[in-house]
Amino acid sequence: RAKADGRGTYRFFETGMDARAQARRLLEMDMRAALQRDEFQPYYQPIRDVASDRVVAFEALLRWNHPQRGLISPLNFIPLAEETGLIIQLGELVLQSACADAATWPDDIGVAVNLSPVQFKNPNLIASVTEALEKSGLAARRLELEITESVLLQNSEATLTTLHDLRAMGVRISLDDFGTGYSSLSYLRSFPFDKIKIDRSFVSELATREDSVAIIRAVTGLGRSLGIVTTAEGVENDAQLELLRREGCTQAQGYLFSMPRPASDVALMLERPRLRASA
Ligand code: C2E
Ligand code: MG
Ligand code: MG
Ligand code: MG
Repeated sequence: RAKADGRGTYRFFETGMDARAQARRLLEMDMRAALQRDEFQPYYQPIRDVASDRVVAFEALLRWNHPQRGLISPLNFIPLAEETGLIIQLGELVLQSACADAATWPDDIGVAVNLSPVQFKNPNLIASVTEALEKSGLAARRLELEITESVLLQNSEATLTTLHDLRAMGVRISLDDFGTGYSSLSYLRSFPFDKIKIDRSFVSELATREDSVAIIRAVTGLGRSLGIVTTAEGVENDAQLELLRREGCTQAQGYLFSMPRPASDVALMLERPRLRASA
């Protein structure tokens, strides 16, 4: 019996592996077709200046509008897109659309675009940013590129050169998800970031954890002394916003103001300071 069970388990395990590999192949094929069918589009979430309460920028967040499965979060397809290299095409699409969309907004409103580490290995990155700006006519200072520590983790010389070249074009560089990696402080020394985005996990625990308050205080203080803008992610209620204001955090972003919404809702998000309901 034990042997039979063992064999059964083994066979089940093999089938399981196979099913997973197959699911990945299907997802990859589906993504390729979806690119042809134009099912990917950036949604936009407002970023507000805490002191003045004004919207200063929107972050572009990629969505897959799947005909059967509905809206799919990037968390469910970006990892495979990075493995297969499809992220290059997707990243290109986000960059071009975000710059084109932002060029139609008031000219004091910026746009933030997330960049994958894989895009930094692509020698075309600078050319593609240049093209997005030239085609759209968007001023370089209105474009922010968000990168995570993982970008700096890979072959740093080439990456730093690329970051400095982007900076020289007038584009701003933000360090996303700050505090979730493992040696954040040294990264602040390796490149003069324009902005630090404090990870949502610290904001969501503000009410329940004293140490989260201490961490927010330390990071906003660090930003002030280094002359770097600080943005808190995932702000969901007024208590969190008040605390961030008290600690002198520069900007806030989160469901308290609005969920990410399609480009056609940007005017509405600029008009209505709080638009909590989901898109
Ligand atoms: P991120 O860049 O840190 O983006 C913030 C995420 O937090 C977004 O998730 C946003 O919808 C979500 N969020 C914003 N406010 C709140 C809030 O108040 N509460 C909660 N619970 N969540 C909030 P989303 O859109 O699912 O994106 C997840 C991640 O996928 C992003 O994290 C980013 O790393 C990646 N991503 C999104 N779009 C792109 C893209 O165009 N290119 C690349 N390479 N990565 C992208
Ligand atoms: Mg981001
Ligand atoms: Mg983030
Ligand atoms: Mg994040």
